[in-house]
Amino acid sequence: MSNKASFYDRLFPWCPYPLVMAAGIGLHYLILHWGFELTTATYIPAIFGAGAITFLEIYYPQRKEWSANSNDVLNDSAYMVIVQIVLPRVLSFALAITLLSYLKTRNMTFDSWWPYDWPVFVQALLMILSADFLRYWLHRYSHEWPLLWRLHAVHHSPHKLYWVNVARFHPIEKALQYLFDALPFIVLGIAEEVLALYFVFYSINGFFQHCNIKLRLGVLNYIISGPELHRWHHSMVARESNQNYGNNLIVWDLLFGTWFLPRERQVNLLGLTNRNYPLPFISQLKTPFIKGIEQE
Ligand SMILES: [Zn+2]
Repeated sequence: MSNKASFYDRLFPWCPYPLVMAAGIGLHYLILHWGFELTTATYIPAIFGAGAITFLEIYYPQRKEWSANSNDVLNDSAYMVIVQIVLPRVLSFALAITLLSYLKTRNMTFDSWWPYDWPVFVQALLMILSADFLRYWLHRYSHEWPLLWRLHAVHHSPHKLYWVNVARFHPIEKALQYLFDALPFIVLGIAEEVLALYFVFYSINGFFQHCNIKLRLGVLNYIISGPELHRWHHSMVARESNQNYGNNLIVWDLLFGTWFLPRERQVNLLGLTNRNYPLPFISQLKTPFIKGIEQE
């Protein structure tokens, strides 16, 4: 009996990522097949992923001390709603639609820049790969350029990792990310089905990347920017956190020499060296403008 239990114990960490991701993407296609609109088919799988990951964080945590308290969740929820849901919509209306109509009046099109006739799944893969290339360099320079680091320090401020703090980005940094991973693809006129599939993968992978679940990704650590790699990216030690910049994929880190996954030890403390860096949402709107507070 004990051998059987230990077999399942050993097997279990390998299951959550592929099973939840496959179920989320499967659910996306199933909802579309049932005739529901694209928005429903996009948000329901993301909510399903969030629910599954919340359940696993409660029953199978990587570190008990990383569990979020009600104050953490309150502040992260403000980030989730204001920065991750409302802000991109405002940017779409203010920026993408204006830019698209400007390009239309100038008769500018980019029809030869994207393989619109490829299958949706392959176009989504191409979008993940190209958006990640742009985000890799934005993220890397956010660690290397002091002014960008002031904004990005907000994301590195928590002393723990759990899925809801994936949302924690200063609104100005979120707007910069939008310029890199959303606007170019909207302007290219990529089909909404492709954007929706990208969003499902991006959401569930982002939740996993920051999750507090005891899991293993094995060979996927050479393809996906998952939790085992990303925990090092949140280390308090700068030479450990200036690695693994990938947003969805880790392939650009492998190519540019920033892939980092020590096998013999676990990450120690997370967050900034300034342990008094404010954590509330309202305070963090101001922290990028306070010189010197953003120490690594
Ligand atoms: Zn970072």
